[in-house]
Amino acid sequence: PLAPEPPYLRGLNEPQREAVLTSEGPVLVLAGAGTGKTAALTARLAHLIATRRAWPSEILAVTFTNKAAREMRERVGRIMGESVEGVPWLGTFHSVAAKMLRRHAELVGLQSNFTILDTDDQLRLLKQLIVAADIDEKRFTARSLAGLIDRWKNRGWTPAEIDAAESEAFANGRGQELYAAYQARLKAVNACDFGDLLLHMLVILKTHRDVLKQYQDRFRYIMVDEYQDTNASQYLWLRLLAQERKNICCVGDDDQSIYSWRGAEVANILRFERDFPGAKVIRLEQNYRSTPHILAAASGVIANNGGRLGKTLWTDEAEGEKVRVIGVWDGPEEARRIGEEIESGQRRGEGLDKVAILVRAQFQTRELEDRFIAIGMPYRIVGGFRFYERAEIRDALAYLRVIAQPADDLAFERIVNTPKRGIGDKAVTKLHQLARAEGLPLTHAAARILDTDELTPSARRSLGNLIGDIARWRGKLTELPHAELARQMLDESGYTAMLQAERSTEASGRLENLTELARAMEEYETLGAFLEHVSLVMDNDANAEDAKVTIMTIHAAKGLEYETVFLAGWEEGVFPSQRALDEGGNASLEEERRLAYVAITRARRRATIFHAANRRIYGQWTSSIPSRFVNELPAEHVESETTMSGGESLWRAQWSEQGDPFAHVARERPGYAATRGPGWQRAATKPLDMNPVKLAEVKASAASFAAKPRADISLG
Ligand code: ATP
Ligand code: MG
Repeated sequence: PLAPEPPYLRGLNEPQREAVLTSEGPVLVLAGAGTGKTAALTARLAHLIATRRAWPSEILAVTFTNKAAREMRERVGRIMGESVEGVPWLGTFHSVAAKMLRRHAELVGLQSNFTILDTDDQLRLLKQLIVAADIDEKRFTARSLAGLIDRWKNRGWTPAEIDAAESEAFANGRGQELYAAYQARLKAVNACDFGDLLLHMLVILKTHRDVLKQYQDRFRYIMVDEYQDTNASQYLWLRLLAQERKNICCVGDDDQSIYSWRGAEVANILRFERDFPGAKVIRLEQNYRSTPHILAAASGVIANNGGRLGKTLWTDEAEGEKVRVIGVWDGPEEARRIGEEIESGQRRGEGLDKVAILVRAQFQTRELEDRFIAIGMPYRIVGGFRFYERAEIRDALAYLRVIAQPADDLAFERIVNTPKRGIGDKAVTKLHQLARAEGLPLTHAAARILDTDELTPSARRSLGNLIGDIARWRGKLTELPHAELARQMLDESGYTAMLQAERSTEASGRLENLTELARAMEEYETLGAFLEHVSLVMDNDANAEDAKVTIMTIHAAKGLEYETVFLAGWEEGVFPSQRALDEGGNASLEEERRLAYVAITRARRRATIFHAANRRIYGQWTSSIPSRFVNELPAEHVESETTMSGGESLWRAQWSEQGDPFAHVARERPGYAATRGPGWQRAATKPLDMNPVKLAEVKASAASFAAKPRADISLG
């Protein structure tokens, strides 16, 4: 008699089962959105553990976001019951690499408690190096150097591997020199940046056979979700680890490759079959997520891309509602409509956690937040660093870093005179000189300089107090819960008092944020673990229990699904982005179209697309035309409505060859002349002469937004 089927296989279709059960040898699952790739990968993880093919610690499972890792962990937990206490090597590329690197840091000249720098620190450091190299920092900016170095790191190139031609890309051939200086400086402060996590590990695996062997032996099975978005350095890293056993299973969808700007290479999909000859390629074609209308709408849009690997998608689901396209006057009206739609969903009994609003760019969330605060709609913002990017949070984190990591010079620099305590630039320069001369971290140099008469008496006194405080706080690290220590530190350092003295609504919002920070810390066992959490991109929600509407970028929504999805701002210049339009190339436009495909396919039951005729972008009113992607939606799967005259035929006409894209602008706003040049998509960027009532309304809403404390925005 047949043994009963294990629970993790229940409900899976034939090709999914194949992906789960083909445990040995290379496997590539190539399939469209919502076909159960992640579900199959999760079942595969369960299968490997349940059949004792591997212990949880012998499986490397890579996901694209922390949220995805958490969901997979939960799903495996549910499938396996209590028998699995955790899969230690399940996480994002960065979190897994960080964990490995801490074990072998000394092989690349770091200590295991190295700091992971954020963009702000990175830019500050690069700027110092550019200035020190006598390069015009206005012409050759730190930001562009950061982008360049990041690109090199994504390709797996150390400074030694940068040739003269590549080096040309910065300050007339000095790119390589600055890259090398940057790496040296990072090492000196015992830090690395995001790209280093992978690059350092790659170097270690390439140059230390024993370490490579150790991981090749450990990882009996390797699996990778969202494979289409791996960059070269991630690919090389995987290939090294999988070389010996070749039990690697990657799942992906070329149509969902949306991170090429971060160095992702779809070509890795094609490379896979070459590097792992005999790889089994599995295709999944049944979509379990969305209704036929949603699926057809998404397929219709992506069909406009060339060079696709191509695949079939079908679904058994009931037909459901058509995709709705709603044209509105402007951004605030869009936010108002979305709010109303969500409220009417609530009356139907739809929970807020079933609803997501996806935007192309961060700036779009502001108007939505504004509206939601006004109507009391609970929401959270996922993805991006909004919370941790705030100045007060960064200051607090710098204090914590100084405690955790005495060599963290960048953190020390940030706090040494914040709040102002009379340690001016001169004193800091002296400190730097001593530190450099003696090869000491700044905190140590600070202790040393107190014994000299380099500083003015008052600066010396202040610095002495600060050093004393730091030592005291460090001492408390073992006896106090670290969240409590953070509160004390903020009080004793005068930081809290500084904000209180401001007596502004803004400052009280900042104080609330600090309270929130301490609350977030309580969830972590050690200060080190918390700081690590902050360093890695966290899309974690602190109050996951309360139902809230989710607002996030399309990029952050990858792999996720919601019953109801609102897609805001489908206008030329917003989506596709102005940048993609300016670059002009087909490649960037196709990447935007893949984003559109990802966006629509997040919806299970209802998808509503918005476009506004007027939009304020970075403070400037712009008249806009509907996105070309709106026009690419197959008419039979769309239901269109607009608050302006013309309806669907209007936006269709705007995109037809004879149609004038600015006809509606002229109609709605007599006397308004669209500036049309070669790049007519740019639309007219001159401010509209708004009617006074509308202007007053906009100003009031902007003011109310600025006045609201923003503590409601959750972490991450
Ligand atoms: P994406 O490309 O967006 O990452 P995906 O291919 O990873 O999508 P999943 O998220 O794994 O798709 O699955 C989509 C939905 O379909 C989920 O709700 C999942 O539970 C469900 N699903 C997957 N496989 C099956 C199946 N065999 N039977 C029923 N439902 C399934
Ligand atoms: Mg998935």
